[in-house]
Parts: sequence; structure tokens; C-alpha cells
Amino acid sequence: MNLADSESIARKLLAAGYVEESLDRADIAILNTCVVRQASEDRVYAKLHELRPWKTPERTIAVTGCIVGKEGDGLRARFPQLDSVVPIGEYDSFIAGLDARYDWSAGEALPAAGRTGVSHFVRVIQGCDHNCTFCIVPRVRGREKHVPIDAVVAECREAIGAGAKEVVLLGQNVDDYRDPEGRGGLAALVREVERLPGLLRLRFMTSHPQDLEPELLEVMAASDVVCRELQLPVQSGDDTILKRMARGYQVRHYRSIIERARGLMPDLGLATDVIVGFPGESEEAFLNTRRLLEEIEFDVVHLAMYSPRPSTYAAQKMADDVPDDEKLRRLNDLLALQRAIAARKTAAWIGRDVSVLVEGRDELGRPFGRIRQGKRAVVLGHAEPGMLVDIRVVQATAGQLMGARAA
Ligand code: SF4
Repeated sequence: MNLADSESIARKLLAAGYVEESLDRADIAILNTCVVRQASEDRVYAKLHELRPWKTPERTIAVTGCIVGKEGDGLRARFPQLDSVVPIGEYDSFIAGLDARYDWSAGEALPAAGRTGVSHFVRVIQGCDHNCTFCIVPRVRGREKHVPIDAVVAECREAIGAGAKEVVLLGQNVDDYRDPEGRGGLAALVREVERLPGLLRLRFMTSHPQDLEPELLEVMAASDVVCRELQLPVQSGDDTILKRMARGYQVRHYRSIIERARGLMPDLGLATDVIVGFPGESEEAFLNTRRLLEEIEFDVVHLAMYSPRPSTYAAQKMADDVPDDEKLRRLNDLLALQRAIAARKTAAWIGRDVSVLVEGRDELGRPFGRIRQGKRAVVLGHAEPGMLVDIRVVQATAGQLMGARAA
């Protein structure tokens, strides 16, 4: 979501004639922020301190993203070097303000448009209607607002016209999508977008187990364009903890979604999020999560230690009763477990033929991209960004596949 917001503001700035520059040569620095965990929020404050010597009367520092919903204009009192506090999505008035400040454009031609990469991110839902007890997102991003199907399709068509090969539909709970004009949910939207001429891949993230409609899995399984990848946060493998988290499902529901999805798409790529050390997480509850990870064998698990976020139900009403060193032990235990699972699963790709949508070049200059199941893959041989190339996998690590182009 943050990447999509950064892209959105960058495109608007580029279209308005601004150019990207290194920090030491730039006039404007914009921090797009995340506050989902305390550590990410702390990084924002550290960066603002770091920018203090950079700031001059001619230069502008702006902050946007979730911290604006949390701290608002109070940030300017704490950080006098800060010029602008920009709510998510309200970029036009910010850019108009910059235009008034920097009269740089006299006589200069504006570039025709912004930028579009191989992948184009489209936010289809803003905000979240769930109330997970640990989560600050509904407070900082507000309740859900859904973009009409026609508007999403128009944006995707424009992006494809400008060179995009892949569209990524984004929402905090993207599978809760409902067209405001009553034309259906995410399955209906995916059906409309996937048939756009020139589109090679379609992905969506992140899904919520409570919202996932079976029809969506059928649309995925039947399509050559939609990626076979599901990002489905489980958060805990223990029903008591799931209830305390107010996730709205039990482990057996989650398991049945995975069974149905794998029944339709045996090679489905599966990613999840897990929090360890949530208030009340006993050793037995933790072991239930561990067993679920062993049983389901996710490709990717994003692991986090619980940290109380201000104004959330959990922070206000539940004691943060798992000691930090115990949280760390549980985190490290699951990290080691998942590393072994991921290595085993990735090794199973060796010898298989896969299609890679090339996104760019890695630090060694080799083309890389993703396979349909979401894994990163390096292509041995020539390939340009935007190309869909077939490779046979010859090497696999937990992080990526590597393969030579099929003859
Ligand atoms: Fe947060 Fe829960 Fe909404 Fe996800 S579903 S954004 S965890 S409140």
C-alpha cells in the first residue's frame, strides 16, 4: 500500500515537471510513512532528525502516509524543520502549494507523463472495516472506500497503454472489495481487469480469510493471467488467540480455505503473516501456531513480535504479558522453522519449467522477475524488463529460483 502511495505521488510530481534527484541535490524531501509497528514509526522520527541539517529555508520537508492519520499537524510542533503534513491521497493540493513556492517552470517544457513500470499498483480499497484488536490501520487509514470497477479498469487500461505488463490490485483486505455501483466483489473486478488486451499478469493483495469468496478461487484457477498466489494472513494458529485478536475466523476455517484453494491450484504460492507474543499467548497457543506452520507449509511467512500500538483495543484492554525475551525466542524458533520449510519447498521447483515476468536487473546485472506463484526468479540469459520468458529452474534457494532460458 505504501509503495502504491509513493508511486502515486511520484507520478503526479513527475507529470507536474519535477525530477527525481539524490537527496543532496534535491529541493524537496517527502517521507512516506508506516506506523503499523512501533519500529517503523521510530524510523520516521529518526529520519526527521537526520534531515535537520539538510533543511534550509529554500528546501521543503513533507511527511505523508499513516503517521499523518495518527499524529496529524502535531508533528509540526515536534519537528519545526517539517514544512508540510500531507494526508494520504491529498497530493494535488500539496503539489499546487509546491508550484506556488518553486517558480521553476518558467519557459521549461513539462514531460508528457509520469512513470509506469512493468508492474502497476492500483489501490481498489482504501482503509479497513475490520477491527483487529492489535491493529492501528483502521484508525490511521479510516473506514473502507471502494473504487468503482469502471474507474479501476480505466486506470489499468491507461497503465497498460503506458507500458505496464502487470497490474497489482491493492487493498488492506482486497477480497472485501465491493463495487459501489453493485456490480460485484473482487472476483467480478478481477474478471473485468484480466481481459484487458496487453495485460500479462494480474495480482492482488492482501486477502482476509473472513472475506474470501469461493468464486475468487475459481476465477484464479481458470485464468492464464491471474497469478496463482494468495497472501492470506492467519496471524495465529490458536483459536483463543484469534478470538482475542477479533480476526473473525477459526483455524479450521482457515484450513478449509487452503484445502479448497490447493484443490483447485495444487501449485498455489502461499504467503501469510504471523504475530508471536500476543497478549495471553501461552506456550500451548504458540505451539498451535507452530504446528499450523508445519502443517500448511507456507512459501513465505512474515513474522512479527507483538508490539502494542496506541489507541488499539489490545493496547488499552489487554496486558502485554509475554516478556520480550520470550517473544524473541518464539520469533527465532518460527524463523528457523520457516527457513527450513521454505528451502524444502523452493528446492521442489528444480527441473520445472516456469514463466518469469522480467521486472529489472539485479545487483549482478542479471534479469529477474517473478513466476506466477509469486517466487522471485533470476534468468540466466538475455531478457528485457516487461518480457515473459520461460526458464527451466536449475538452482533454488529459500529466497529465489534461478534458471536458464528454455531453448
Ligand atoms: Fe488491520 Fe485487521 Fe484491517 Fe488487517 S484486517 S488492516 S490487521 S484491522
